Amino acid sequence: MPPSTNPSAVAIAGGGLAGLAAGCALAEAGFRVSLFERRPYLGGRASSYQHPGTGEIVDNCQHVLLGCCTNLLDFYRRAGVQDKIRWYEKLTFLEPGGRASAITPSALPAPLHTALALLRADCLSFRDKMAIGRAMAALAPSAPPDRGESFLDWLKRHGQTRQAIERFWKTILVSALNEDLDRVSVPYAAQVVRESLLKSAAGGRMGIPTVPLTDLYSTAGDYIRARGGEVQFRAGVESFRTVPFAVNVTANGEERQFDYLVLAVPFDALGRMLPDTASAAPLAAALGQFSTSPITGIHLWFDRQISDLDHAVLLDRTIQWMFHKSRIIDARVKEARMKEARADDARNNEARDNANANANGSYIELVVSCSRSLVEKSKAEIVDLAVREAQEFFPDAPDAQLLKSIVIKEVNATYSPRPGIDQYRPKPETAWPRVYLAGDWTATGWPATMEGAVRSGYLAAGAVARFASGKSVSFLVPDLAPSGLMKLFG
Ligand SMILES: Cc1cc2nc3c(=O)[nH]c(=O)nc-3n(C[C@H](O)[C@H](O)[C@H](O)COP(=O)(O)OP(=O)(O)OC[C@H]3O[C@@H](n4cnc5c(N)ncnc54)[C@H](O)[C@@H]3O)c2cc1C
Repeated sequence: MPPSTNPSAVAIAGGGLAGLAAGCALAEAGFRVSLFERRPYLGGRASSYQHPGTGEIVDNCQHVLLGCCTNLLDFYRRAGVQDKIRWYEKLTFLEPGGRASAITPSALPAPLHTALALLRADCLSFRDKMAIGRAMAALAPSAPPDRGESFLDWLKRHGQTRQAIERFWKTILVSALNEDLDRVSVPYAAQVVRESLLKSAAGGRMGIPTVPLTDLYSTAGDYIRARGGEVQFRAGVESFRTVPFAVNVTANGEERQFDYLVLAVPFDALGRMLPDTASAAPLAAALGQFSTSPITGIHLWFDRQISDLDHAVLLDRTIQWMFHKSRIIDARVKEARMKEARADDARNNEARDNANANANGSYIELVVSCSRSLVEKSKAEIVDLAVREAQEFFPDAPDAQLLKSIVIKEVNATYSPRPGIDQYRPKPETAWPRVYLAGDWTATGWPATMEGAVRSGYLAAGAVARFASGKSVSFLVPDLAPSGLMKLFG
């Protein structure tokens, strides 16, 4: 007998973007959602918290999105936070010494919209530019299939100069895919290039949240609650077992029954949750194929402005991106934090110092993707390296006094998009009826990104809703249409 619960009850394990997207879609479709999150806050690998040593609210790392992230933008619309993203058309590539090359789209039709800016870029030679143009032409019609070749080998086969690889391909792709080019599969790299540089100017514009990440994503929890659901914090799902017409889920030692379960946890957490049965063996074997790559964020507070840029790509050094957080963060958020600090003034010197530093100085975050070289280094060594390198790019930095710093190493930041990995990424349906998978590492067609995570949540929600209704249901929204000459390729 099917359970008598009406509406159907869905448990979701994991309050990252995958679990939140699945939860919002299902709550809106009329399911009663119970979301279990192991930590005391939402957002998972895209979250912020109050740093215990400094009292500052920091993101675990700067997160950016692109105009082509259509499902993420749909999720923002649902959660009502689409106005918390600031959009940028221009990227500034800085060389050591400070020379800048601006990459801005022109009015030329796609895929030629970035061609003029690339032709003018001082950081590339004429030979580099011709080589990049040839490789772009090869990628424009379609993404090549995965034949086990790395993108670095593909680039060498397509006549790329050393500088084009270092200053252009690495810069774009290591930050987008969080992996070295010799470990990146060709279709993943091609997808990033096609979506962000070739298909349309709108697809390539960069969005940066203007509020801390947890402020952005906790709204999705409110959305679920407003539709009759619940969000439980510090509630780690330990195990599950299917019974006729239901799934029993154990979280924090308590077993509860649901109609459906969506497991939206990272692949290593899922491995710990799987039953030790023959039916789990193929999934457990697939999980064993995944490996991860680290990202390091270095947060620095200076007593003065060191740049008038909101962000910049930094060439030829360990640090790869600069985000000028004190310029990007919403003025209202800053004001609210300073008010809180002033209210605490008499009792809390640290809060007062934060308020002063934020008012007069600048807060920047430097990001190093695929940061294996930093994992073993101490905080002091990393800060020292970062400050030294920042001084090479920003002429005002040597005069600035460093007030405080935080280093956040996300050692298992994202799965490695190596050649061949796609065959191991599972679909939402599992060997167990009523149990579904989501997460940036599942089969979404996208690399480990916020867009990939939201897609996975929507895919899992669609699978639940189809099973429940017997009808064709999908929560995915269409990709951005190609524009200009890219329409010829569909
Ligand atoms: C440092 C860093 C920088 C990044 N930068 C970008 C960027 O600029 N742009 C971009 O698009 N993407 C970026 N990403 C990737 C992006 O953050 C992830 O792809 C995305 O957030 C993954 O979401 P998820 O829901 O799949 O997984 P997660 O965010 O890992 O969510 C899983 C959740 O499950 C919870 N959990 C685990 N076990 C259990 C359990 N047993 N029971 C209950 N809950 C459990 C975890 O606490 C977590 O909240 C970055 C990632 C990192 C780490």
